Amino acid sequence: MTDCIFCKIIAGQIPAAKIFEDENIIVFKDITPKAPVHLLAIPKTHFATIQDIPEPEMGIITKLFSAIAKTVQTLGLCEKGYRLVINSGERAGQAVPHIHVHILAGRELAWPPG
Ligand code: 5GP
Ligand code: ZN
Repeated sequence: MTDCIFCKIIAGQIPAAKIFEDENIIVFKDITPKAPVHLLAIPKTHFATIQDIPEPEMGIITKLFSAIAKTVQTLGLCEKGYRLVINSGERAGQAVPHIHVHILAGRELAWPPG
């Protein structure tokens, strides 16, 4: 998607502080962090939301969560805990229509979220 900001990060057209990258996934720092650790994990293929993934391609979610598991272990976030968030659609406040999992850590995280 030419006008997608995350596709531009994937293509290297916009810089991002990458924490993890493989063939299918990148994890990078959120530009306006809401916690001491705030990362975004995204598939390199553009889908707006999880319901936009065709069933035969749903395996990308396994790859996405595998990359997240490696990242939280590498960064030592597991002992104290972390939160994963996927905002989908307008009411959830999804600003970027490219699937992304927020990884939040480094402080107490209130529940329920706002
Ligand atoms: P959403 O509200 O869609 O769930 O989250 C989008 C996130 O993307 C926000 O937390 C926002 O700070 C982050 N973001 C938006 N544009 C950029 C960018 O150009 N670079 C990075 N690293 N993060 C971005
Ligand atoms: Zn995209």
